[in-house]
Amino acid sequence: MNKSAIFGIPILVASVFALTLVAKENQKVMDNSKLTDRERYVIVKRGTEAPFSGKYVNHKEEGIYTCKRCGEPLFKSDAKFDSRTGWPSFDDAIPDAVKQVPDPDGMRTEIVCANCGAHLGHVFFGEGFTDKSTRHCVNSISLNFEPKEVNDTSNQETAIFAGGCFWGVQYHLDHAKGIISTSVGYIGGKTKAPTYEEVCSKGTGHVEAVKVVFDTSQTSFENLAKLFFEIHDPTQLNRQGPDVGEQYKSAIFYEDDKQKEVAIKLIKQLKKKGFSVVTELIPASTFWDAESYHQNYYEKKKQEPYCHTKVDRFQ
Ligand SMILES: [Zn+2]
Repeated sequence: MNKSAIFGIPILVASVFALTLVAKENQKVMDNSKLTDRERYVIVKRGTEAPFSGKYVNHKEEGIYTCKRCGEPLFKSDAKFDSRTGWPSFDDAIPDAVKQVPDPDGMRTEIVCANCGAHLGHVFFGEGFTDKSTRHCVNSISLNFEPKEVNDTSNQETAIFAGGCFWGVQYHLDHAKGIISTSVGYIGGKTKAPTYEEVCSKGTGHVEAVKVVFDTSQTSFENLAKLFFEIHDPTQLNRQGPDVGEQYKSAIFYEDDKQKEVAIKLIKQLKKKGFSVVTELIPASTFWDAESYHQNYYEKKKQEPYCHTKVDRFQ
């Protein structure tokens, strides 16, 4: 064996090793070996599955659709709509996840996975199906689906209280034990998705209210309803201090009969103590979240409410 051959061996080994690395890198995004023939026909050879044949055409679960070949997230379920075309349709893609390329047919725009180039389908514009007027028409077979993780909500209950300006009511309820979340909004009116101006000046019939989600292992509707009766004055009719108008009325929008019964019991207790309670008990209807500048108003301003202070009424 001559010397040059001996020196050549490490170079050869290094080159093979480097080539293997490159091949592995490519394999990560271009591995077609795990695809079935039908998947390969669509994903690699740009075929189209038959309409109404794919598993995600009428799929309505919450979650994320990912690339069958590389696993990258492509579409969110909230962009999915029923186009009745026979293919899963999305009016939006996850940013930068889907690439548009001119279709070889010279007419349409093909969509591919931006990460691995897997063929997904086509995108169409101006059809007017949704506000975005965009339809990503995708083959089910190009996709996998990852359902949204379902949080355990078995310990959660919702309550809706109206007691004057919702800033103050939210402030106090938010600081109570066992609260998961609070939001201010409008309820009980005639129109959909009202604005603050409409509620205040156009007589939509909505009331300023606070929706509370709480942990039933830490507190109860009764605890929160008691607190509610102590942080506002339930004897004032259609007003609360300086805020006058029906939108400031005192009310509990109960979720079920159990909440209603608790509220009736507490009102009886207060009346026995001499309070002429005017709080209305109304079955809960759609709660419309108020504009974001109303949410957690006092927290944001680092102030304390002028309109609501806690007074012991059950002692
Ligand atoms: Zn991909």
